[in-house]
Amino acid sequence: MMQAPEPRFRFAPSPNGRLHLGHAYSTLLNARIARTLGGQLLLRIEDIDLGRARPEFVAGILADLDWLGLRFDGPVRRQSEHFADYAAARDALAARDLIYPCFCSRGQIAAEVAARQARGAPVSRDPDGAPLYPGTCRALSADARRARIGQGEPHSWRLDMPAALRTLADPLLIRRFSPDDGAEETVSADPARWGDAVIVRRDVPTSYHLSVVCDDAVQGITHVVRGQDLEAATDLHALLQRLLHCPMPAYHHHGLIRAEDGEKLAKSKDSESLADLRARGVTAEDVRARLGFSRLC
Ligand code: GLU
Repeated sequence: MMQAPEPRFRFAPSPNGRLHLGHAYSTLLNARIARTLGGQLLLRIEDIDLGRARPEFVAGILADLDWLGLRFDGPVRRQSEHFADYAAARDALAARDLIYPCFCSRGQIAAEVAARQARGAPVSRDPDGAPLYPGTCRALSADARRARIGQGEPHSWRLDMPAALRTLADPLLIRRFSPDDGAEETVSADPARWGDAVIVRRDVPTSYHLSVVCDDAVQGITHVVRGQDLEAATDLHALLQRLLHCPMPAYHHHGLIRAEDGEKLAKSKDSESLADLRARGVTAEDVRARLGFSRLC
């Protein structure tokens, strides 16, 4: 009988700001489950957003994790060092006509959506609330695409969702696991609700969705533990895993740590960072106790 791979978890922050309590909860939970299941915990820095990622945030993240008492297995993977791998995945999808170049600007998409609404056509929205891409560039001929790319016109690459769904021979399922004992169940994935999602951005040869799927496979991640805000994205990740022949990890999406006012903690909203807490004299033990992790992970 084939032996199950050793459980592997990861914490994958984006260095666009300092870590806050929500990140601390996520990484402590990863560490606790990894320890319970006798697995490893890896660290990945998701720095594909070259405009927002900053070296001082990476240094801050490493310092905060160290302060929390967390130790990671293996080398730290930095996504910005692996653009060639993501470009290879893009090319594989493009060669099978599963993604297509999209030349639309945000303004053009908004205008097209507004025009449809004005005509009384229904406008569906993705799980994040954004209107689904109306499919304008899906209709371009291969010659038109080549010519526009040849002229250097900026473009993203979008999933041809109907084409991708047609490749599925078996139902697309997501494996969910219990953080208490690792017990699994499966639920159906519904990637269609993302429409023709952007798989490769204009500015870099990847997107959050593509690099997360590639990296979870490359790093041999068996269990993904992350916040409920990313639960819907898992449907799209499951589809990309199938299209790219990547193994599918099991998932647990934890509840989000809320600020005192019930708002979601977000770096963009200037929630108090771990560094701020530390500067106020709060100890790592205090943070762990507040989040329900009194024992050191
Ligand atoms: N980099 C993402 C974030 O900081 C997390 C990605 C993931 O866990 O899949 O929100």
